[in-house]
Amino acid sequence: MAQVMGLGYIVIETRDIEAWRQFGTQALGMMEMPRSDDGTLHLKMDERPFRIAVVEGGEDRLACAGWELANDTLFERAIEELRAAGHVVKEGTAEELADRKVNGLAHVADPGGAELELFYGPIFDHTVFISPVGVSRFVTGTLGMGHMVMLSPEPEETYRFYTELLGFRLSDTMHMGDVLLRFTHCNQRHHSLAIAKGPASMMQHFMVEVGTLDDVGYGFDRFQDLGIRIRETIGKHTNDHMVSFYAQTPGPMQVEYGFGGIKIDDATWTTGEITATSFWGHRRPPKPAQ
Ligand code: FE
Repeated sequence: MAQVMGLGYIVIETRDIEAWRQFGTQALGMMEMPRSDDGTLHLKMDERPFRIAVVEGGEDRLACAGWELANDTLFERAIEELRAAGHVVKEGTAEELADRKVNGLAHVADPGGAELELFYGPIFDHTVFISPVGVSRFVTGTLGMGHMVMLSPEPEETYRFYTELLGFRLSDTMHMGDVLLRFTHCNQRHHSLAIAKGPASMMQHFMVEVGTLDDVGYGFDRFQDLGIRIRETIGKHTNDHMVSFYAQTPGPMQVEYGFGGIKIDDATWTTGEITATSFWGHRRPPKPAQ
């Protein structure tokens, strides 16, 4: 079975790229890289040329998630396996490869309709990451850029797509009323992808992990000083032990800004069911008056 190694990048479509530029650099603390010819905004978090790409478009949404394969052989095999399972896989054009700064790229949609880019071979720029607002570092490397929570109108098939075709393993589950939330991993990060039922395919939030608890605290102040809506106060999650807060991005999805997530080991990890998202905190502030 194909084995995704991690969440490599996300691509966001927006009607307001300047809002994302401000949010990405001044709130998240990521580094703005020179624009590509088509105006794509690339935000750098680490040694990779970018981890978030923002493209101008007619909608505000997650355009796609970039999931990384280890090398060319395993990338080709993943494409073959997806096609054998009846999925339409389209190989990336030379222009797309150049824009994503990778050696190989293929497009496929999951059963809920969310678009993925499978890729291998990031092309490094060897630029040192320097946060414009003093974030010490983002925790990436073998853990990927972070995690994402996807709502899907076809949660069962979507879960099977990722676990049976792309190598994701179940970390734990939670029932929220009638909705089953499944957290899955593809590396030592407790979850890179969580899936739950929703009316349409959409990203509920993405998470980036910073190097210290102070990075979260400074971030919490910074977001509020910038007038960004806090969706959940600082709290500690029960499953990955992440200490984090949630805020509204310029798009429909939220961002989770966290520190201290556990690493799990497939040799010993067993799946459990959690019954609360957080040990403490993660309180929802009232909606601000308009
Ligand atoms: Fe999260």
